[in-house]
Amino acid sequence: MHVETLGDGRPQHTIVACVHGDETCGWHAFNRFKASDVELTAPLKFVLANERAFKLGYRYCDVDLNRVMPGDASSDRHEERLAARLGHELAGTKVLDFHSTESRGGPYAVVAGTDAASVHLARSTGLDRVVDISYMGGGVTQAVTGVAVECGYYDDEGAATTAHRVLLNFLAAEGLVDRESVESSPDVYKVVGEERGQGYRFLADNFQRVEAGEVFAEKDGDVRRADEPFYPVLMSTHGYERRIGFRAERVSVGSRARTAGTNVGIGGADGQ
Ligand SMILES: [Zn+2]
Repeated sequence: MHVETLGDGRPQHTIVACVHGDETCGWHAFNRFKASDVELTAPLKFVLANERAFKLGYRYCDVDLNRVMPGDASSDRHEERLAARLGHELAGTKVLDFHSTESRGGPYAVVAGTDAASVHLARSTGLDRVVDISYMGGGVTQAVTGVAVECGYYDDEGAATTAHRVLLNFLAAEGLVDRESVESSPDVYKVVGEERGQGYRFLADNFQRVEAGEVFAEKDGDVRRADEPFYPVLMSTHGYERRIGFRAERVSVGSRARTAGTNVGIGGADGQ
């Protein structure tokens, strides 16, 4: 784990990159920010979480760091020890945690619960979609007030550019840099279940409602139909080993969606 603090004093915000070592967009965004002439008006902590996996180009070494919080300092597994250290490092700060993904439909914010503080941080990202993933346990942002952002497709340039834009907006909205920002009024989705399966081709679109009876995945002529309507979230053909992705409900519609055509958010919610 690599930790650095910009500015003087005790930071109230932490930027986290590489919880998954092969998702480098947050690392690039932070370095772009450091190299720019944008000045911080308050201290900021940065954590490159899974430095070992990052250097190896792996998602993780032993176990998924984003599933083992709060971890175990005496474990023989790298990520469980790391989770315990990471928990200490993040404690008492508001966290923005950058990810990229195999699935389409980004960028969007991810929270572990829709408490007011988490939703406020999600609004500070300026993104138009928020996914509540408290269904899954052990996430890095679960034990702290935090928001994760899925910036786009893995290591492509677009994900890093999106991460940099989200970072600047977040810092401005949280009062750490003196510049204009957008506070979004996002659509909120809550993950309610998952679709297991290996080797399926995902045929629908993330965040686009799948109706009851509709085919959303296929493998060698074996089709998967929705028992009841849902919104696919983080669904993809190759994203997970044994899971197509998640089923979500849309629990609220933000004002961005009510004023169609005037996308004031910075998230390209283009429904791809
Ligand atoms: Zn990730």
